[in-house]
Amino acid sequence: MTGGWAARLVHTAAELGIADHLASGPRAVDFLAAQIGAHMPSLARLLRALTAIGVLHETGERLYSLTPLGTTLRSNVPGTMRVWVLLVFSDDQGTAWEALTHAVRTGELAFRHIFGTDIWARLAQRPEAARLFDEAMQSLTQGVNKPLTANYPFEKFGWIVDVGGGNGSLLLPVLERHPAMRATVFDLPHVADAARSRIAAVGLSDRYEAVGGDAFVAVPAGADAYVLKGVIHDWEDKEAIAILRTCRVAMSDGSKLILIERILPEQIDPHDALTRAKFIHDINMMVNPGGRERTEAEFRNLLTQADLRLTCVLSMPGPLAVMEADPI
Ligand code: SAH
Repeated sequence: MTGGWAARLVHTAAELGIADHLASGPRAVDFLAAQIGAHMPSLARLLRALTAIGVLHETGERLYSLTPLGTTLRSNVPGTMRVWVLLVFSDDQGTAWEALTHAVRTGELAFRHIFGTDIWARLAQRPEAARLFDEAMQSLTQGVNKPLTANYPFEKFGWIVDVGGGNGSLLLPVLERHPAMRATVFDLPHVADAARSRIAAVGLSDRYEAVGGDAFVAVPAGADAYVLKGVIHDWEDKEAIAILRTCRVAMSDGSKLILIERILPEQIDPHDALTRAKFIHDINMMVNPGGRERTEAEFRNLLTQADLRLTCVLSMPGPLAVMEADPI
């Protein structure tokens, strides 16, 4: 049960920006209290607790530095988890978990029970929350980007559409390395607008377009590949199949559909950390977007119902797998 409290310590460390104040080396509590504007005796206790859970290292003189785990709480480092930590306990995402018991009793969506609407509609109305969400997704994407782009040859496609691609960060490094490729990030209009500015800032607008729309209605037609990363798990089967069908309609005979998702194992090994995380994520999908993580057989079945055939499953280092499908 103290695991939940440990997570709150990490969240407070992220809110206070402790890791950024330790970026240049070991510091004592009085320095940190002055920088942060915190109550020194309370901060001293927090630092010791963060040391006890492996986020900080404490010397004999009570100087604190970052462990490798603690380093992931810094802002603006590749693979930073800071914004993700902020998102998990944010007003929206954290509060929805309070209705988990209600969701399990009734099958109702916890998020809707609390807020009266779904996560996407609420984000569209709240630009600050939307920015936090997109940045958190980007930080997760960066953490898994390298293994994905090192192990999956995205460059074999001339034109890729990243459906529900958020701010477009998955394909940015791929396009930078492969000047002959082009890509489109497709997402809800407010998300596509943010992606467009980001792409323009890195000078790739001529080959990387951001298109706003609704994946339940239509996505740009005729691309060589349609990537859906962390999109299908946001939805229950009916909606997931509807999105896959929209992509299927946009595909030509030679197009590939590429799903990038966590795959739940059939047998649960509770000693495997990735397995544990996958099943906990499944409950977050139940609580927040109202979706689910799935087994390979469940993905295969979804794809078949959208006239797509699963042709190969590539496991990647880390939690995600890449699934390729062809039109039937
Ligand atoms: N692929 C990204 C983001 C995953 S989060 C990544 O892996 O980091 C799911 C994305 O689906 C969000 O960016 C959300 O805005 C988008 N989305 C939700 N409903 C959508 C819809 N109806 N049409 C298009 N995109 C949608």
